[in-house]
Amino acid sequence: MQFIPAHDFSANSTGVAWWFAFSGDRILITRPSPETVDIPRISHPEDLGLHTEQRQYLGRLDGLPCYAAALSEDSTAPEGTAFQSLRSLYGNLDETVFAVTGLGLQLINWDKTHQYCGRCGGPTRNKTDERAKVCTECGLVNHPRISPAVIVAVIREGRLLLAHAGRYPNQKLYSVIAGYVEPGENLEQAVRRELREEVAIEVENIQYFGSQPWPYSGSLMVGFTAEYAGGEIQEDGAEILHADWFTPDNLPDIPGWGSIARQLIDGFVRSYSAGGTSGTSIQSQRQPDGSPTTDRRKGDPEK
Ligand SMILES: [Zn+2]
Repeated sequence: MQFIPAHDFSANSTGVAWWFAFSGDRILITRPSPETVDIPRISHPEDLGLHTEQRQYLGRLDGLPCYAAALSEDSTAPEGTAFQSLRSLYGNLDETVFAVTGLGLQLINWDKTHQYCGRCGGPTRNKTDERAKVCTECGLVNHPRISPAVIVAVIREGRLLLAHAGRYPNQKLYSVIAGYVEPGENLEQAVRRELREEVAIEVENIQYFGSQPWPYSGSLMVGFTAEYAGGEIQEDGAEILHADWFTPDNLPDIPGWGSIARQLIDGFVRSYSAGGTSGTSIQSQRQPDGSPTTDRRKGDPEK
């Protein structure tokens, strides 16, 4: 599968196209068989009786045009289709199709929240020469916003720092520390600040691991590893409720397949378990496009 991104808003849908159609944050899927899911290839969602509120052209996937669409929030899935959360599709859709789905969700959310100018309140329209919206009254241009966030695996003598955050629905879930980059910071400064603020830990030897678009919140997650350099765990009590150091053979509940958090934790286990491949640092198994290798085993990515 090859995806060629494009932003030609004048592109009109004629004939069959991929339609990444969202009702809220759930996407319309078809079920070619009971075990498989796919994205509808149709001429238009209206043909299925679905009302489209916004539309963004995404590019071409395997030669067919791709559109992202926002449907009414109260849409009901036509026969033979269903609405599913994006996360539940991880591992069940082709990896490229899954990535385009994430792109579609991010652009539709941007489209919905940039119908009016943030400076003068005038209506906006899509720009034709780039992916952006321009105010029809004052000319202010807005590009899709991506919020960078850092995520870091800290190692202390063969143990990994994991924390339980109050926002996790699973009371037993632990993950690596993550947080948004603040204005004026570089990525390494954001890593140091997040660790200092949330668990009062200092680190050194911060190394890039890999990155992952995170369409659910419009983020780009930038992963790092780091070595413990000082401090004792002191949870902030607001974001982080409990944190501790874990050995590879004594891990708590951790995030499901597909997240960069899980890839960092899996990298730690590979490197530090008995007979591990490194014993000194987490090895990122990078793919040619720079993203960390994902584990294709099916599981529950929403855990
Ligand atoms: Zn304006």
